[in-house]
Amino acid sequence: MRVFIVHAHHEPTSFNAAMTAAAKAALLEAGHEVEVSDLYAMKFDPVSDRRNFTTIADASRLDQQVEERHAAQFGGFAPDLRAEMDKIAWCDVLVLQFPLWWLGLPAILKGWIDRVFALGFAYGGGRWFDIGALAGKRAMVSTTIGGPDAAYSDRGVYGATMMSVLHPLLHGTLAFAGFSVIEPVFVHSPQRMSPTEREAVLAHYRERILALETAPLLPMLKSGDYERLVRKAD
Ligand code: FAD
Repeated sequence: MRVFIVHAHHEPTSFNAAMTAAAKAALLEAGHEVEVSDLYAMKFDPVSDRRNFTTIADASRLDQQVEERHAAQFGGFAPDLRAEMDKIAWCDVLVLQFPLWWLGLPAILKGWIDRVFALGFAYGGGRWFDIGALAGKRAMVSTTIGGPDAAYSDRGVYGATMMSVLHPLLHGTLAFAGFSVIEPVFVHSPQRMSPTEREAVLAHYRERILALETAPLLPMLKSGDYERLVRKAD
């Protein structure tokens, strides 16, 4: 299988870096192909603006989706975006590896999505969810979380489960674009673990990574079901 890991942590000795290194080594050892985009090491620019494009549809005002549609038609995505799009097109499975920051993604990864998941590439033209532009590929989110598991429940301090916290990413982004979304990996409080516990987490993560092709998926909305519901409500 071809696996594309997008890694978003600024510290090479972080636990996130250890997870990405463990995943890459396990996949290569098992004969799979791996690409890693280490966003900080690449100095990936997360700011979305005219620099996304080499073409211009409307010079008078910037409408990102208008420019994306035009760029998709005329080959006008900037080389840094095209390179990331090519890796997505190449892979069977996309893995997003990041620490939870403010109940969300580090800005560099959010910016990667805002720029790379462009109209005409990741969605558009009535293609969404099961008939999405990237249908047929799998995606898995792997995140480390400072707070303990108990903090992430309806009655925990955050008032939400990790599945709810990541709903915008799991459902609104990955499933929306057509990915079959694998059950995520949550690693709570790696900073408070003993070395033995961390080794056990890394060993378990290697197993999860080697099972990406067959791992259980989250339930996915079927676009036809949604359209039937909307018609019924009208
Ligand atoms: P690290 O601190 O890098 O690593 C943990 C430990 O693992 C370290 O001791 C490290 O030395 C060790 N380690 C590294 N490599 C290996 C290896 N190969 N083998 C064994 N051990 C190793 N948390 C929340 O719960 N909710 C939030 O909303 C939230 N918001 C945040 C916002 C910001 C801006 C920041 C900076 C943090 C926030 N946090 C939050 C905490 C954050 O989620 C955690 O600090 C992060 O997930 C921990 O992962 P890490 O990779 O940075 O761990």
